[in-house]
Amino acid sequence: MENETTFEIQEKDGLLVHQGVIRVPYTWAAGEVASRFYAGLREKKVLGLRCPACKVVLVPPKKVCHRCFSDLTDWVEVGDEGVLQTFTVVHYSEPDLHPVEAPFAYGIIKLDGADTGMTHLIGEADIKGLKAGMRLKAVFRHQPQGNYLDIAYFKPIEEANHG
Ligand SMILES: [Zn+2]
Repeated sequence: MENETTFEIQEKDGLLVHQGVIRVPYTWAAGEVASRFYAGLREKKVLGLRCPACKVVLVPPKKVCHRCFSDLTDWVEVGDEGVLQTFTVVHYSEPDLHPVEAPFAYGIIKLDGADTGMTHLIGEADIKGLKAGMRLKAVFRHQPQGNYLDIAYFKPIEEANHG
């Protein structure tokens, strides 16, 4: 049965251990803010919310400003390019967790016009050449579906100078 939960206690090496499988199927409404953000991605646009009080632009957008707790309703489109703030390289594949095969990198990218970073995959990149501060550009998938992976990944932009 799809929703069956199994649970068993066994003695193993002198210890009682739980062994089981817990399945948690769910349906979760994306909500007003995330729905609009995803609808934007489907149009290959990255949308954020600007705080009317402190002017911070949140991407991905949030309903409430994390700095001053104002309600946010002022939608803005930000750039599809930005700065890699930090990253981590994943060396193992886990299909239930990661959408691509290892090795690959996740980065936090602050898009032009945004004040917060979005976590995403980095692609078309020499992993050993990644550096915080480098510029990246969003690569949208060919047939967007209205979800976070409509941006397939961010790729490094060739820079004119190497300063
Ligand atoms: Zn604010």
